[in-house]
Amino acid sequence: MMMNVPLTIPMMLEHAERLFGKKEIVSRTDRGVKRLTYREMASRTRKLSSALKKLGVQRGDRVGTLAWNHFRHLEAYFAIPGMGAVLHTINIRLSPQQIAYIINHAEDRVLLLDPDLLPVLESIVEEIPKVRAFILMTDETTLPESKLPNLVLYEELIQQAEEEPFVKDLDENAPAGMCYTSATTGNPKGVVYTHRSVVLHAMALGLADTAAVSESDTAMPVVPMFHVNAWGLPFAATWFGSKQVFPGPKFTPQILLDLIEQEKVTISAGVPTIWLAVLQVLEKNPRDISSLRTLLCGGSAAPKSLIQTFEEKYGVPFVHAYGMTETSPLVFLSRLKSYQQDLPMEEKMSFRAKQGYLVPCLEMKVVGSDGKEVEPNGEEMGELLLRGPWIASEYYQDERTKDAFRDGWLYTGDVVTVDEEGFVSIVDRTKDLIKSGGEWISSVDLENALMAHPAVFEAAVVSVPHPKWQERPVACVVLKEGHQATKDELIEFLAKDFPKWWLPDHVLFLQEIPKTSVGKFLKRKLREYVKEALGE
Ligand code: ADP
Repeated sequence: MMMNVPLTIPMMLEHAERLFGKKEIVSRTDRGVKRLTYREMASRTRKLSSALKKLGVQRGDRVGTLAWNHFRHLEAYFAIPGMGAVLHTINIRLSPQQIAYIINHAEDRVLLLDPDLLPVLESIVEEIPKVRAFILMTDETTLPESKLPNLVLYEELIQQAEEEPFVKDLDENAPAGMCYTSATTGNPKGVVYTHRSVVLHAMALGLADTAAVSESDTAMPVVPMFHVNAWGLPFAATWFGSKQVFPGPKFTPQILLDLIEQEKVTISAGVPTIWLAVLQVLEKNPRDISSLRTLLCGGSAAPKSLIQTFEEKYGVPFVHAYGMTETSPLVFLSRLKSYQQDLPMEEKMSFRAKQGYLVPCLEMKVVGSDGKEVEPNGEEMGELLLRGPWIASEYYQDERTKDAFRDGWLYTGDVVTVDEEGFVSIVDRTKDLIKSGGEWISSVDLENALMAHPAVFEAAVVSVPHPKWQERPVACVVLKEGHQATKDELIEFLAKDFPKWWLPDHVLFLQEIPKTSVGKFLKRKLREYVKEALGE
């Protein structure tokens, strides 16, 4: 038998402090750039834990954060679970009403917030009476005028606090973190992470065949720390002693490129929208990004052209990954196997553009509409089901649990194919598939193909009702600055790769595609727009 030692979040920080105490955290803040070591950060983190205790936070209580990616948010990542409370990262881009719903549903006791979130919280302060204190994460030394009761400065709390050790008797299965899905319909759903799930997920990010996060890395999480814990990167990078770089509030592609160049970032993670925007700036203004060894990209499908440009033009390995709030999020990562390295470029790219294959510890099933598992032939479609130690088993106090969690599996709502090598391709979300004449059309496949056209910046495809075919695809396209393309040209471009009945009936040219709070195409809104534009 082996020792049953609990896997806990403070254990990760204590390891970093002991072994990598001199390593650096670089963070843009609301007033400049801050540099501190893991030793300093760990000491400040323990002070934050004891300050929270003084404010009345008890074990099991939820403490919310409304913040960008910066070093104080990282301290909160460890201080809150380190005292046995639950780190509830709140998506700052949700509407004030959704934020109020989430704060009340989670029953947050204390909120840590960035200065630019003050107006949002002031607008809902009457609706969140149970919050006992608000902590302002800022470099400023005086409190601003505010309607918020019990508003205190983060730095003052740290200065006045005693440094106490983290709690020792944490249960690895106790709640440690919480995140609500960005929900395109209905209220957001809460997912609760445990100490054990966070540690195991971070461990998985260190595996050589996944993200291989290591001491020699300089990691820059661009994906927000309120979006599935920035995909676990801050936890893994801290534990393994990587240098970390945080882009801070209101960053631009320019700022990201500056940080990559100046701090020699080796690994970063973000959604396709971010990397598309970075690429646009890079194309106009060449920069040295040769320090990058991996760009992780997930959250929605990474267009093949994006992967190809980063790799072929800039020599930056671009890794497509898949996950969701319910899965912590890492599930698939698209890396070639050793015996695939010699395949022709085109074939390699078609594997790489898929979402990838399962990381160790997880199990999957792909189930067709008849309830049976589909053949792994890259063609048959089914819903993706997942299980594993960092997959949620329920939603937090939410009756929608019974729809998504059945017989020990998470029903992801994603329609996929799986090929003989185990590479999974996300065809669509169940609700976004287009059914034309009884056959399925993947909006994602059409979008990716359109985005490979040299004049297209972004493209989203949605269905419109059709009297004969039930539904037909319509493409919404944003052209690159200074580029032109006609409907016929784009349809002709698609006709090379798709059967005729897949080709969109209309192509609408837009200035911008509506997006969700985490940068995904907001198809519900787009469908409304298309209906109006077509006069239907
Ligand atoms: P929400 O569910 O609120 O949109 P999540 O970030 O949890 O927020 O989104 C998870 C979903 O995002 C997945 O179920 C899937 O549909 C989509 N997704 C994530 N990664 C990818 C990817 N690499 N390619 C395509 N879709 C993806």
